[in-house]
Amino acid sequence: MSDTGEKGQRLKKIPAMDIILNADWLQSWLEKLGRMRVKRVINGELSQIRKDILENNFEFNFDEFKASCLSALTFSSRPSLRRIINATGVVIHTNLGRSLIADEAIEAMTEAAAHYSNLEYDLKIGARGQRNSHIEDLLCSLTGAEAAFVVNNNAGAVLLALSALAKNSEVVMSRGELVEIGGSFRIPDIMELSGAKLIETGTTNRTHLFDYERAVTEKTSMLLKIHPSNFKITGFTAAPERKDLAKLAHENNLIFMEDAGSGLLVSPDVINLPANSNEVTIKSCLEHGVDIVTFSGDKILGGPQIGGIVGKKKYIDKIKKYPMARALRVDKFTLAAFEATLRLYARENYDEIPTLRMIRRTHDELKEQAEILAGKLSVKIEADIKIIELYDTTGGGSCPEIELKGYGVSIKHKYGAAHIQKILRNNDVPILCGARDDEIILHVRTLKDDDDEIIISALERILNA
Ligand SMILES: *Cc1c(COP(=O)(O)O)cnc(C)c1O
Repeated sequence: MSDTGEKGQRLKKIPAMDIILNADWLQSWLEKLGRMRVKRVINGELSQIRKDILENNFEFNFDEFKASCLSALTFSSRPSLRRIINATGVVIHTNLGRSLIADEAIEAMTEAAAHYSNLEYDLKIGARGQRNSHIEDLLCSLTGAEAAFVVNNNAGAVLLALSALAKNSEVVMSRGELVEIGGSFRIPDIMELSGAKLIETGTTNRTHLFDYERAVTEKTSMLLKIHPSNFKITGFTAAPERKDLAKLAHENNLIFMEDAGSGLLVSPDVINLPANSNEVTIKSCLEHGVDIVTFSGDKILGGPQIGGIVGKKKYIDKIKKYPMARALRVDKFTLAAFEATLRLYARENYDEIPTLRMIRRTHDELKEQAEILAGKLSVKIEADIKIIELYDTTGGGSCPEIELKGYGVSIKHKYGAAHIQKILRNNDVPILCGARDDEIILHVRTLKDDDDEIIISALERILNA
């Protein structure tokens, strides 16, 4: 009993909300965040203190309370979604927003945001138009497709295409391609949601044309091929050629669909992929007889988040008309950014597309950048600073087998890598980097021009303290 009494006494020392809200030190925050937000933050701090008193026998201390309120208020005054610096060398990092978009795409988004637009208005005839019309012709000319449609993302594109084209029928797929991507996109789940029935064939490592042939019944409507984006099966493997699958599909009046995942619009050598790489362009999928190809806009394509669907007009028309399409439609900013990105492809201005530019950066260029950053850091901080050769990756479920040779700056300091990484993560502009052998590693491939100064001043503050 006396214990509860003691805790009761301690709880009583906590000031009331009204009194706290009238304190001088809170007035500027009330203006900056609004009374509702401040109250919510203080409430959070107060519940934590009550919990600490009851569970851990804490004593209320006003100075500590004030300090933790101020840090919580500072935290909540920052936008939740904000810029970070990517020094990980992973170009398309799903957790960090995948692709940065080109300057022209940013301009197009701003323009679409600030003004009325002909989003769904046909200026030629002066009547209602289609939002898809702004990108269809560009996508067709870049991929050789008869027709094209875009939705919110590739998961949506696959779901929509399966629903519109294969609902209540059987879809045959290789067991080697039953993939999960990023934890939430699992082909069997998407298939179930679409109302199509998944028929698995072959084995994990080898699936032959005869496996597909045997799996086809009178209920089959589609053969589906999925790009195994984030892994590679090596060793004793087999998969039929696209053209053979296309032939089988068309002989049986089936649709041949492929989820290409990343969606290369350029020949693999443009991004220095080896000739034997698994990556194929959307155009070559279609040339080999695939009827419908789906892909993401913000992976290796380097545009905004979008799901592209290209292929035969008769199927695309069905997809466009399917009611689910309305629920997955893209917004005007995304559409503006995507059109601008496609125009850069049409002009072959690949280096203006940040994702392609970062992947294409040369060894010498990266070395020089690492030397400059290491040089500037050496002047400002006392630590063991070196430039090192390392491997970067494209990431984003693109080309898992490709390692990009890059450069970085390694920093060894008595504070230890994990500690420094943690402080960098909590910087005003958070900085994410790698670590190895208790050294932090800054990969330079993914840094932007003005990132250097921010990194230098953060490390100066942290390491010279
Ligand atoms: C990334 C990926 C998806 C999911 O695409 P989102 O644009 O993220 O919805 C689907 N299929 C494959 C093969 C992928 O690589």
